[in-house]
Amino acid sequence: MADFQTLRGMVDILPSETWQWQSVETFARHHFERAGINEIRTPLLETTELFNRGIGGSTDVVNKEMYSFVDRGDRSCTLRPEGTASVVRSLIQNGLISQGPQRLWYQGPMFRYERPQAGRQRQFHQLGVEFFGLSSIKSDAELISIAWDLLKQLGLKGITLQVNTLGTLEDRQKYRSQLVSWLEKYSKNFDEHTMNQLKNNPLRILDSKDKNIKKILEGGPMLIDYLCESSKRRFINLQEFLSELDIPFTINPKLVRGLDYYCHTAFEITSGELGSQSTVCGGGRYDGLVQQLGGSATSSIGWAIGMERLLILLANKIPNQNTPDIYLVNKGEKAELEALCLARSLRLANLKVELDNSGSAFSKQFKRASRSHASWALVIGEEEVNKGEVVLKSLIDKENFGSNISINISNIKEIVDIVTS
Ligand code: ATP
Ligand code: MG
Repeated sequence: MADFQTLRGMVDILPSETWQWQSVETFARHHFERAGINEIRTPLLETTELFNRGIGGSTDVVNKEMYSFVDRGDRSCTLRPEGTASVVRSLIQNGLISQGPQRLWYQGPMFRYERPQAGRQRQFHQLGVEFFGLSSIKSDAELISIAWDLLKQLGLKGITLQVNTLGTLEDRQKYRSQLVSWLEKYSKNFDEHTMNQLKNNPLRILDSKDKNIKKILEGGPMLIDYLCESSKRRFINLQEFLSELDIPFTINPKLVRGLDYYCHTAFEITSGELGSQSTVCGGGRYDGLVQQLGGSATSSIGWAIGMERLLILLANKIPNQNTPDIYLVNKGEKAELEALCLARSLRLANLKVELDNSGSAFSKQFKRASRSHASWALVIGEEEVNKGEVVLKSLIDKENFGSNISINISNIKEIVDIVTS
């Protein structure tokens, strides 16, 4: 075993995998560009207080999962466990809130001290979108459609959109007291975790995976019955807009985001192929957060996709576009020098060229050429150098497979024309 190993839950992304990440990232970037959404990049490290206030002291993330430490200047710092709090901090700090609606996306590593398992790591990656200053329910529908279309266009099958509404703070306060009275009747059998939730964040109990609790909830009060008229209307409108957009959805009354600043829309996109870690994308409206972090009251909605789970679902569905156009086979002192120059000229002419620097026998180099999945082999040996030529061989075109095209060694344009035609 090697002397040094990654920390538990931290994962290397190896060269055989990075092209899949790049492919999804590039696809997502173009998807967001088409929707007028701009990227924001914030530091990985923030003050611990930002997350205490931004995510909330009663959540598992803040209570158990944060990577926090005191730095050399005696400040408590935390590796970001999610992206939203940092984005909001940045908007307030840089005065962007007053500059009209903001449509932003971010991506990158997040850190949570959780129990690692399939689809759950301690350093993982999220891709997220946040809209600020957009209060209409149409924006919720647009935001959801951007997530849905991204996943669909990437080729995901068997995904489900679940939506719910959390109403306003007043709606939830009315409901919360009813829910707590209902649950208290059964609370003598609750474990410590559920008791804590009952005290601090009873709505979170709604998405409990515990069979007994699910059973207890079945007969209990439902949030939907405590919504005021305008909250109900918003939720109905959301459903109408999603139908208009032809996005299928189911209503899941148990879907909650447990924090006080969440309101109205909550949604998740799940996949049956992910086992117990089934949520690929989660999001909702959080109109109270900007104010809670010291800014002016600002409508806010957003979602985040878990990249690792997305990549598990996409396994083998992404074509590898990082294969070379040309594999440059070369042998012999003069030929190897020519090959070095040729590789450079062809790269400057925008081709992807893999130069074989091994000096091995031609047969070995050809084997490597075929393993590289290059479309063409460009061959140069002593004989070719003496004639001032190179030989182009197609590696993928079945009809012309193996047939040789001789080209003058300085005729870069002809090589480029053939390879790109
Ligand atoms: P879960 O219930 O799966 O823990 P969550 O509610 O903690 O999810 P969010 O904070 O909403 O998740 O994050 C959005 C997405 O990020 C999740 O839907 C998931 O795809 C991904 N995600 C969250 N935590 C992890 C993790 N530890 N490892 C990998 N992906 C994660
Ligand atoms: Mg979690």
